[in-house]
Amino acid sequence: MSLYAEAAAIIRPARKIAVVGHIRPDADAIGSVCATVTALRQLGKDAAGYIGQSHPFADNLLSIPGADEVILSDELPEVDLITTVDCGALDRTGSLAEDIGRRAGATLVIDHHSSNAGFGAVNLIVRDAESTTTILGRLFDVLEVQIDRHIAHCLYAGLLTDTGGFRWGSAAMHTFAAQLMRTGIDIREISTDLLDSGSVADLRMIGQALSRVAVYQAGEHRVAVIVADHDLLASASLSAAEGLVDFVRSLDNTDLGVVFKESAPGLWHASLRSNSVDVSRVAVAMGGGGHIPAAGYTACGNADEVVAALLAQVGR
Ligand code: AMP
Ligand code: MN
Ligand code: MN
Repeated sequence: MSLYAEAAAIIRPARKIAVVGHIRPDADAIGSVCATVTALRQLGKDAAGYIGQSHPFADNLLSIPGADEVILSDELPEVDLITTVDCGALDRTGSLAEDIGRRAGATLVIDHHSSNAGFGAVNLIVRDAESTTTILGRLFDVLEVQIDRHIAHCLYAGLLTDTGGFRWGSAAMHTFAAQLMRTGIDIREISTDLLDSGSVADLRMIGQALSRVAVYQAGEHRVAVIVADHDLLASASLSAAEGLVDFVRSLDNTDLGVVFKESAPGLWHASLRSNSVDVSRVAVAMGGGGHIPAAGYTACGNADEVVAALLAQVGR
């Protein structure tokens, strides 16, 4: 049986399903949760979406249809099936991880992270898929879900953002985008909402952050680093902070770009990008994970310490 058929087979008999995206969600996580919840409801199931954190996620993600219904929670109700989407490892489900770990036998994992070892009973992991929503598009065809405009908007959100606005991916991403566009979605509006909107405060934060960029030698690699501390990020939106890494993705004469974002004093999220180095390996070594060109992890300490620890790992 193909992985898609196996995933469909575990979904079909389930009546009540919880759909879980990763913490600090991006548009692929929220798009995947919302598309899956809507598709499952179309199949007559009782479905709801969850994120395992208590603080709200980035405002611009609320433009994705159904995002306002996603429940922030540290527990799941009794369900027949848990489906995680875009979660590269169990701990990416945040405060739901323990609960899901206990119910692994009733968990379906749908994901595209290269570092995902599989933590469910069925693991639909397609490492060369551009986005988790790309995998869902194929799964919905197997389940005979009708991809309406609402579902298409959700799927397009993940495809658009996980391909950096169609900068990388296979020819199939364009075929999929065309299929979604034929439902009548407004791609200009979706791009504005997810990639191009921002406040004056956001722009000022970005300006200050960019002026701090530094380049370090780590072994044979040259690493561009932006440190965005808690004070700097206080005035800006979460989406503006997440967008910083795009500026250091491929700076001249560097082969790795990193942004350290201090979400609470002393607690940092590092975002790693590269066109030539496997940053998922670096992130895994630092306790995180991700894809070959884009990965991340969490670190504690002051700015100098977290930067030094990363450079030591990269130089190894
Ligand atoms: P980010 O830099 O947060 O945009 O993350 C880049 C990629 O790495 C995304 O696909 C994330 O899902 C993944 N990632 C980020 N942080 C972690 C982490 N702590 N553990 C595993 N994967 C992560
Ligand atoms: Mn994601
Ligand atoms: Mn993704």
